[in-house]
Amino acid sequence: MIEIDGVSKWYGQFQVLSDCSTRVARGDVVVVCGPSGSGKSTLIKTVNGLEPFQRGAVRVDGVEVGDPKTDLPKLRSKIGMVFQNFELFPHLTVRDNLTLAQVKVLGRSLEEATANGLKYLDRVGLLAHQDKYPSRLSGGQQQRVAIARALAMDPIAMLFDEPTSALDPEMINEVLDVMVGLAQEGMTMMVVTHEMGFARKVADRIVFMDHGRIVEDTSKDEFFSAPKSERARDFLARII
Ligand code: ADP
Ligand code: MG
Repeated sequence: MIEIDGVSKWYGQFQVLSDCSTRVARGDVVVVCGPSGSGKSTLIKTVNGLEPFQRGAVRVDGVEVGDPKTDLPKLRSKIGMVFQNFELFPHLTVRDNLTLAQVKVLGRSLEEATANGLKYLDRVGLLAHQDKYPSRLSGGQQQRVAIARALAMDPIAMLFDEPTSALDPEMINEVLDVMVGLAQEGMTMMVVTHEMGFARKVADRIVFMDHGRIVEDTSKDEFFSAPKSERARDFLARII
């Protein structure tokens, strides 16, 4: 479903991604971890064309992301992305957050978009909050709305970039529970996170990055029991 093939990217002289390759098969969950500044966000954003790159190729469902002829807005509409800071529209109610892109991008009727959006809002346990503005919700609730909003687009894959790292500890699990449910239902997911409990539960593979390189790309059992690189061993020792 997602193929990252020899991707390199520079900011001027600084190489932020070095020959990165990995794959996410349909229905798989790949967790990306590694120290701050190692290139995780940059890598995951190449998948939906939010980060251009100079070398290599990224394909999603057979579509070449770096090809200038690719319709990026269309591709992005098929890939859900959830960020650290929720990124809900502050001036719209929860319900309007859920319907906007369905109507504007997918051309759904407001009625259809509302029914679909509320189905996902119910799924994340927030149906009663549909008339509220995001600022009236907790961080955990806002992030669950952001996930529902992404799912309402019926994506073929979901990207998560540290979805729980801006949350107070007591709210982390309500978001992870939604993500575990999605993983168990077979959603294709690429998840940047340091939540190793989540990784142990649902990851099919772990990608470990350091200084712009993928230094491990392995099964979770191997990653947790016998990480190959010293950097990964250090990293695990510090966060677990
Ligand atoms: P991570 O998500 O693993 O913390 P990032 O992908 O955000 O890492 O960043 C990787 C590196 O690229 C960092 O060293 C960061 O400072 C650098 N970087 C990110 N964006 C830019 C930019 N627009 N210009 C220059 N350097 C950048
Ligand atoms: Mg990041």
